[in-house]
Amino acid sequence: MTGPILRIAVPSPLYRTFDYLPPPDRDLTALRPGLRVRVPFGRRQVVGFLLETSDSTSLDPAALRPALEILDSEPPLPADVLALLQWARRYYHHPPGEVFATALPVLLRQGEPALPPALPPSWRITAAGRTALAESAVLRRAPVQRLLLEHLAGCADGASLETLRPVARDSAATLRALRARGWVELIAAPTPNTPTPPPPRIPHPPLILNAAQAEAIASIAAALERFQVFLLEGVTGSGKTEVYLRVIEAVLARGRQALVLTPEIGLTPQLLARFRERLPGPLAVLHSGLNDRERLNAWLLARDGTARVVVGTRSAVFAPLRAPGILIVDEEHDPSFKQQDGFRYHARDLAVVRGRQLGIPVVLGSATPALESCQNARRERYQLLQLPERVGGGAEPAIDILDVRRQPLLEGLSRPLLERMRLHLARNEQVLLFLNRRGFAPILLCHECGWLSACRHCDARMTLHLRQRRLICHHCGDSRPVDSVCPLCGSVDLRPLGHGTERLETALRQEFPDLGIARMDRDSTRRRGSLETLLADIHNGDHRILIGTQMLAKGHHFPDVTLVGIVDADQGLHGVDFRSSERMAQLILQVAGRAGRAEKPGNVVIQTHHPDHPLLRVLVAQGYPAFAAAALAERQAALLPPFAHQALLRAEAADPERATAFLKAARALAEPLADGVELLGPAPAPMERRAGRYRAQLLTQAARRQDLHGFLDRWIARLWEHATDRQVRWSLDVDPMELY
Ligand code: ADP
Ligand code: ZN
Ligand code: ZN
Repeated sequence: MTGPILRIAVPSPLYRTFDYLPPPDRDLTALRPGLRVRVPFGRRQVVGFLLETSDSTSLDPAALRPALEILDSEPPLPADVLALLQWARRYYHHPPGEVFATALPVLLRQGEPALPPALPPSWRITAAGRTALAESAVLRRAPVQRLLLEHLAGCADGASLETLRPVARDSAATLRALRARGWVELIAAPTPNTPTPPPPRIPHPPLILNAAQAEAIASIAAALERFQVFLLEGVTGSGKTEVYLRVIEAVLARGRQALVLTPEIGLTPQLLARFRERLPGPLAVLHSGLNDRERLNAWLLARDGTARVVVGTRSAVFAPLRAPGILIVDEEHDPSFKQQDGFRYHARDLAVVRGRQLGIPVVLGSATPALESCQNARRERYQLLQLPERVGGGAEPAIDILDVRRQPLLEGLSRPLLERMRLHLARNEQVLLFLNRRGFAPILLCHECGWLSACRHCDARMTLHLRQRRLICHHCGDSRPVDSVCPLCGSVDLRPLGHGTERLETALRQEFPDLGIARMDRDSTRRRGSLETLLADIHNGDHRILIGTQMLAKGHHFPDVTLVGIVDADQGLHGVDFRSSERMAQLILQVAGRAGRAEKPGNVVIQTHHPDHPLLRVLVAQGYPAFAAAALAERQAALLPPFAHQALLRAEAADPERATAFLKAARALAEPLADGVELLGPAPAPMERRAGRYRAQLLTQAARRQDLHGFLDRWIARLWEHATDRQVRWSLDVDPMELY
């Protein structure tokens, strides 16, 4: 036996770890979980994670391949993140290699040294390198390598690449070659290991906290040394962010760091500016708009504690922190915290797990908490902190339901809504229209023969985008030029059916030709910086009418908006998913919250064909807490989450039979194991064909979480053994947020 076996999480979609022998000539005493290891994998070389070392392997030790190189002297991820990943890997039953890769910036996944950007790493000769020099035979044919090695043999503390460049031709490439042979290594320049002192205080703005704010801050501040989840519920403008800021100040004063998670589109310039202005020291920001280098640098600043406050989107829940003190999840109900492909984790739920493991408080903030969180507060697992009023006593917007049945509609807008718009516009105020559908029209229809713009790859229609002159499928991304004649009958009478934001914009430009109109959706903000420009123009008052999708619903505040129109609430009220009414209520209130200020409260008008929808009525008449209570009662009666726990097994294949056959076999495996667990399906997915593949699903559900997870532990392991049909792609979604 050549020493310990390395058990490695290799970035591959396989539900297992891989065993390797240690690389030759390597000091084995320094092996620790979390080190990155370069290993051969098939015909490739990949960077994996050392999970543990072991004396035994279930494989034939003679067949094991040696690892090529250990990339780190210290694990790049702190112990608490490693523990979180281990937890997540078991809970989500996901291939370990992909789980671990999620937590690392791309450059580190590719093997780059995990060293602070300010301190260039230095190269040092290894023991094996000295041996190689002594047995000079190996180096006879490699004079450049020899030259560099000899030079490094004389540098006790190593040497940076800069100082090595003049030593030999092509030093960088030669060093890489030497490293691959294990003769040199990269080491971090020494980092001071003393805790960073608390940063200087920045004075508060001269505002007096209201009683609810003061109480919320006091409750959280009293729990800084232990694990406790707080659900901070307060309407937009009730001062939640001020609570975050004060609590963060208290955490920083103890020399600790704060991690703040926000939804992707909630991470606005406004929010960041407020954080920068109020909190001392550099802020690390982690979001999907960064390039790989920027992301690595922000990540390293968080890890070495230089950044006292780290703000980021979903995957920042894995951000390394030197001295974590608090975790805050803003807009905790937002669906973007759930990853919808690959490793399907929920960042809010993982924040709670991380807080528990670290023994620090977690604050979940929202005007419209997820029903799961409401239920946790009712069961007193979370401590509820409410900010019931808008700061400054501003009235909450008045919400009206507008029955559009039998009403003439101008491109989806009823006459009463248009009249209300004119009223507000005449007073020089702004109007915001919310329509959660981008493009011109969701369908192009032939009036002659009834042909519809179906996608070739999906059970879906292609959306008409007139500006781009293309039909685009919002499900698979396929696009083509707009047909000028019907592909079936040759008629030229092709008509757009239904309304998107682009169409609304066109109609309003005709109706209000003299007014500035801004459209905010993914199409109009695709270019880098275009969102910022649009927001600045809106705040300067250049635009009087704002049209947007859910992008408009978050983070921004438009104080001059006094009328908000929800153009089509019916979409959400009657969605296929049991969560769609919750989602619609959250969106309505969020959009409503964008508007108004103390002296100019907002008005909200909701257009619907179902004015008597019970949940909609409760929401409008009594507000979100009453809505949540009613919706929870419905969920309880139907035994749906949070009163049941679900995991969804999805399968897809080019051939519909195969996906179903796989799920039938999976069900047969599950039946003897499913104690206290209900199996529903297999059934075709609501959109059966997507991107050319047929999708089916099997839902598993249990009243008790531990029953479900006990079952999944046994079932998923067997499924991997039995799932031999290579044509079927499958995945498990634990706590699915969408059932398709
Ligand atoms: P939320 O995050 O709940 O939307 P904010 O914390 O952003 O609310 O507060 C809304 C506005 O009121 C901000 O401009 C904030 O600076 C201000 N504000 C917050 N708390 C107070 C207070 N106690 N007194 C005066 N202004 C406040
Ligand atoms: Zn036709
Ligand atoms: Zn498609």
